[in-house]
Amino acid sequence: MRNKKDESFARKRRGNNRWIDGVIVLLFIILVGSVIWIGTNGWSMQKAVDTIRNEADPTADFAEIEKPSDSDSADTTERSEENTSSSDVSSEERLREVEKPLIEEEQEEEAVQEEKSQGKAVPPNSVKPSNPTSYIKGQKLPEEPKLVQGILLVNKQYPLPEDYAPGESEEAREAFNELAASAVTSGINLQAFSTYRSYDYQVTLYNRYVERDGQEAADRYSARPGYSEHQTGLAFDIGEVNHEKHWASNSFGDTEAAKWLAANAHQYGFILRYPEGKEDKTGYMHESWHYRYVGKDKAEHIFKQNITLEEYLGVR
Ligand SMILES: [Zn+2]
Repeated sequence: MRNKKDESFARKRRGNNRWIDGVIVLLFIILVGSVIWIGTNGWSMQKAVDTIRNEADPTADFAEIEKPSDSDSADTTERSEENTSSSDVSSEERLREVEKPLIEEEQEEEAVQEEKSQGKAVPPNSVKPSNPTSYIKGQKLPEEPKLVQGILLVNKQYPLPEDYAPGESEEAREAFNELAASAVTSGINLQAFSTYRSYDYQVTLYNRYVERDGQEAADRYSARPGYSEHQTGLAFDIGEVNHEKHWASNSFGDTEAAKWLAANAHQYGFILRYPEGKEDKTGYMHESWHYRYVGKDKAEHIFKQNITLEEYLGVR
C-alpha cells in the first residue's frame, strides 16, 4: 500500500517536473524568437512592434492612402476616423510627418524658381523693379501718353490721359483688311469685333465686369479706364464671322482661325499682345483674340524673338 503510494507520488513529481521543463523550454523559445524578430527589424524595438501591428491590420496603410479628400465623401471619412484605433492614429501621424517636409520642400523650390524668374525678368540696370501685373496704388492718369522708341505703350504701369481719344487707327485698319483678305484665301473669315474704345466706354465695361466677377478677377482680364490698349485705337480684338460664341473667349484659341492668326498676323504688323505664360510681363492673362498693331518690321522682330512688347521695349 505504502509502496504504491510512494510510486504514485514519484510519478506525480516526475509529471510536475515535465510540466515545468515544458514551460522553461517555451519561455526560452519565446525569448529567442523575440531576439531574432527584433534582429530582423534592424534591432529597432519600435519597428518590430509596428511590423506586428501592420501584420495584424494589413489594410491600415491602404486606408490612409485611399482616404477620400473631396468634400462629397467628407462624412464617410469622419465615420472611419471614429473607428480608428490608437495604433492607426500613430501611423497617421507618421504619414503626416513624411508628407510635411515634402510639401515644405516643394514650396521652397517654387520660391527659388520665382526668385530666379524675377531675377531674369529684371535687367541688372533696371530702375523700376515694379510688378506689371498690378496697378500702382493711387496713380493718376498722365498728361501725355507713354512713347518708347516711337511705340505707344499702354499697360498697368503706363495709362493714357483721360482725354486721349484718337479713334481707330486708319493704318491699323488697312493692315487688318490686308490680313483678313489673306485669311480668306485659307478659308477663314476674320472680323475685328472690338477696336477703338473711348475712356468713357471703358468705364462702363470695367464697372460691369467688377460687378459680375469682383475687382480682383476683373483686373486679370479687363483694363481699368485709362489703362486699356483699346483706347489707343491700335488694338484689335479679332474673331471669326458667324462664330460669336468664340469671340473674346478662351475657346477661340483652339480654332483654326486663331492658329492662322498666331502664325501670320505679324506679316501685317500685328502682334499677339498677351501671349500664353507671359502674364508676369504683360500684366494680363493670355488672350488669343487681342492683337496690337505695331507695324510690320517691329511685329516681325517681336514674333521671331517670341517676346512681349514690354520685353521688346525693355520696360516693365
Ligand atoms: Zn482686346
